[in-house]
Amino acid sequence: MSEIVDLLGLDADGLARRCADWGQKPFRARQLMRWIHQRGEHDFEAMTDLARDFREVLKRSARVAAPAVIADNVSADGTRKWLLDVGAGNAIETVYIPEADRGALCISTQAGCAVNCLFCSTGKQGFSRNLEAHEIVAQLWHASRALGAGDPAQRARGERPITNVVFMGMGEPLQNYAATLAALRILLDDNAYGLSRRRVTVSTSGVVPMIDRLRDDCPVALAVSLHAPDDALRDRLVPLNRKYPLTELMAACRRYLERAPRDFITFEYVMLDGVNDTDRHAVQLLALVRDVPCKFNLIPFNPFPNSGLRRSPPDRIRRFAQQLVDAGIVTTIRRTRGDDIDAACGQLAGEVQDRTRLAQRSARAAGNAGAAATTGGRVAQPKRPADRRTRQPAET
Ligand code: SAH
Ligand code: SF4
Repeated sequence: MSEIVDLLGLDADGLARRCADWGQKPFRARQLMRWIHQRGEHDFEAMTDLARDFREVLKRSARVAAPAVIADNVSADGTRKWLLDVGAGNAIETVYIPEADRGALCISTQAGCAVNCLFCSTGKQGFSRNLEAHEIVAQLWHASRALGAGDPAQRARGERPITNVVFMGMGEPLQNYAATLAALRILLDDNAYGLSRRRVTVSTSGVVPMIDRLRDDCPVALAVSLHAPDDALRDRLVPLNRKYPLTELMAACRRYLERAPRDFITFEYVMLDGVNDTDRHAVQLLALVRDVPCKFNLIPFNPFPNSGLRRSPPDRIRRFAQQLVDAGIVTTIRRTRGDDIDAACGQLAGEVQDRTRLAQRSARAAGNAGAAATTGGRVAQPKRPADRRTRQPAET
């Protein structure tokens, strides 16, 4: 085996297979997993309970490496955002949101996104590439280390800075299924992060066949980006709806619930002034989700240049939420976190892109084709699972 494998992306089976290739017993894979993910170790030499020969093999054939950090910003409210370099001018964002009783990490699965939702700046900038499993897991690995999770004293105190992981960063996780699945398995593995299925949430724009596969392969908590109560409007806002319309999506949600770790689907709904936020929309929405046990998370639209859209006024959002609450649906309004570092709006990645574009323009002007081929950094989207409740929900 000549290629260097990044062990961050191998789940228990994958790691056991590699270890077998290296002539090692399966328990070595478990040992490795604990070193890498629980202790945050990347230096094979430091893994002292592995045989010296095996450490030499690892040094030649494997690595544990997270993408380089381009920026690391901490907000006054404790929200922390990393901008990570995944090569070829692409940057992805990872956001940590601490709260009194938990800490959530929001991770990305693609550089850019092909779904192209009307209100999403990631989508507006097109699809660059899928992240590999190791690049998805690296976000958690890096954040855990940065937050001191490998520290024996912290572990002894039973402190866990990251208690929840949400796949709500850049990209559509279910359009990068294999890597997302491998990452999920590592997140849940007791020898790695040991997160419970209820504390890991995949957010999707509604890739129906893959919702079914996730249900069979690794059912974790599911959030569905709904955004519209009827097909005509959703076709416009979430173009994937033309392929998987609402009736199919609702049926997939019901099937998912048969195996889901929580007994509800979270519907995300971006509040767009005059587009999807009227009383009539709320009434239609209630009819649509009648047969799907669910909670709603209303997300005030996060504007970006030339979107042509506006955020619904606070009163409108409150009234919309109240209509859902009055019908018995637990509803939250997503609260702004980390505004002072633009943790919600992907501005840092945007700046990288602007710089790259600038470089492209000047390269073109100078007739430098090589430099002009650089692709742009991508802008991440609001990943703010911190909520203000409109009614006390059961969710933790
Ligand atoms: N692709 C997945 C997950 C990433 S997007 C999905 O669409 O579900 C995470 C959430 O942010 C989604 O609910 C998405 O609709 C929402 N979002 C995207 N752009 C937004 C914006 N400009 N303002 C508010 N929410 C936005
Ligand atoms: Fe992609 Fe989600 Fe943005 Fe839609 S909202 S373009 S699916 S990242």
